[in-house]
Amino acid sequence: MNIQYCKRCVFPETKPDLFFNEQGVCSACIAADEKNNNIDWVKRKNDFFEIIEHYKSKNDVGYDCIIPVSGGKDSTYQAYFMKYVCGFNPICVCFETTYITDLGQRNLDNISKMGMDVIHFKKNHEVYKKMVVENFKRVGDEMWPNHIGIFTIPVMFAVAMNIPLIIWGENPQQEYGGPSLESVKNRILNRQWLEEFGGLLGNRIQDMIGIQGITKKELTPYFYPSDEDINRVGVTGIFLGHYFFWDARKQLEIVKKYGFSVKEDGPIEGTYTNYENLDERLVGLHDYLKYVKYGFGRATDHACIDIRNGRLTREQGVKLIKEYDGKYPFYGVAEFIKYSGLSKQEIDCVIDSFTNPAIFIQNPDGSFKKDSNGNLVKKFDVQ
Ligand SMILES: [Zn+2]
Repeated sequence: MNIQYCKRCVFPETKPDLFFNEQGVCSACIAADEKNNNIDWVKRKNDFFEIIEHYKSKNDVGYDCIIPVSGGKDSTYQAYFMKYVCGFNPICVCFETTYITDLGQRNLDNISKMGMDVIHFKKNHEVYKKMVVENFKRVGDEMWPNHIGIFTIPVMFAVAMNIPLIIWGENPQQEYGGPSLESVKNRILNRQWLEEFGGLLGNRIQDMIGIQGITKKELTPYFYPSDEDINRVGVTGIFLGHYFFWDARKQLEIVKKYGFSVKEDGPIEGTYTNYENLDERLVGLHDYLKYVKYGFGRATDHACIDIRNGRLTREQGVKLIKEYDGKYPFYGVAEFIKYSGLSKQEIDCVIDSFTNPAIFIQNPDGSFKKDSNGNLVKKFDVQ
């Protein structure tokens, strides 16, 4: 079986919401062209400073903006940028990840050491865990409640603390390729954006009411504040990546000078880089679920970005993808066993239920064929 790949990067046609033009170039590459060639970055920069000036507190006490942080390189950069480039007094808000790594915790703690106040939202672990397990089984995404909380919690604090400006980082639709240029151009993150592009996989938070006794009240942190509250405070979220050319590797070098640490003993499970998704123990499992559904994983995402930025040739990218994508995530699964209490057999059974029989070979009994390392056997070739 053949999967069509973008002629320029290596995104496959199986990637949701990806389109190809007549030349066989994908919508993510076309968006990157726009970013590289057709954007007046000087004008954008001026627009940015004009907008934020309006929000800077005129009082001699108070916070000027909210920065959602995870402790990852992007949010560390956002914090650095607002504090040291813009001279703002930000308050950082962290919705903690599912199962944080030691390195992630260190990088999160580092943000306050950079000279900023940080609110660390400690969520109700039991409710969150129920949603993790439920959505692992239901949509094959154990990070599902996290995709929501990282967007709703900063907005909740913006309303509660009467701080209208929220500074987001990159527009993920822009970097990873999304439905349309319209979403890429959308600089404002609001409820509609969250629901359309936030990766909720057709599930809504309302659907979690009653799951193992979860009540609506217990889901409070996961509901977007009301339009009335948002309008009263005038909450405005903007993507830094809309106004400034977003180059993760350059930004990494900056935040390292401010105490950010990368993984020194090799790449993250599922890819070849050591500077992204450092904070989450389950990330390898998360990316593997994507792989079994669509035939590509995080190494493809990273290689495609590096190809578009001219850091890799397409040929080098294909080689890295073949080496790193689609390996069974032993570490992620072991950590998920600890976190969830599910057995390896139960976890594998759920993974198999999301594995796409159109692209992976099955045994005569319907189970999926695996090689001696426990990896699926592909029907397709990355090319
Ligand atoms: Zn492409």
